Amino acid sequence: PEVEHIMPDYDLYPGLDCSMGFTSRGCIRRCPWCIVPEKEGGIKPWARIYEFWDRRHQRIMLFDNNLLASPNWRQTMGDLIAEDLKVDFNQGLDIRLVNEENVGYLKRVKAMQFRFGKRGRKTLRFAFDDIAYEGAVRSGIELLLDAGINSRKLSFYVLHGFGDDNTAVERINILRSYNVDIYPMGYRGADGKEPKRKLLYHGTELWHGPRRNISKFLRLVGRLPE
Ligand code: SF4
Repeated sequence: PEVEHIMPDYDLYPGLDCSMGFTSRGCIRRCPWCIVPEKEGGIKPWARIYEFWDRRHQRIMLFDNNLLASPNWRQTMGDLIAEDLKVDFNQGLDIRLVNEENVGYLKRVKAMQFRFGKRGRKTLRFAFDDIAYEGAVRSGIELLLDAGINSRKLSFYVLHGFGDDNTAVERINILRSYNVDIYPMGYRGADGKEPKRKLLYHGTELWHGPRRNISKFLRLVGRLPE
């Protein structure tokens, strides 16, 4: 819609020091847990940052679902680098699409995870949601590390609790071997609710099962007070 191509009135939000918007919409993939393909369809370029970047801001938050898959990714990355902006790729980047060409842009762009009211962290965000693309995750991480990007500046969301998938621990262990940051993220259905089955975290180990049983188990092994 046309309204999405109008410069937002950031003065409505005093104190906000960051511009926000999309340079692409949609996605090339159809992950079964994700609503984007249904809502936005296939990938398409949407705007240059200049449509929504307020030059008073040094920071910009992008909500692109899969920027690296969009035909205009070079232009977006080039604009961010040329304007020396700090950018939060809020929806993450697709590790499967990291290659020899875009890794050079990923090294130069000032990627951050913004934390309102606090200093942001230098972070490139990705996801490892399905064990089926383990090979692509490994080669993507290795390309980023070979380019000289510190592993502590890479962070990965790890989806758990979707369907009968039981590979979250395996995915976490693969990521741990690269010393990257890991954020387990529980699946929520279209109704916003998490499924009944839960994974609970204790250190780096995870258990399935009702909370009461897990607490009882942890008490038995002396990890929780009575
Ligand atoms: S790659 Fe991301 S945005 Fe695209 S369908 Fe999968 S989860 Fe959704």
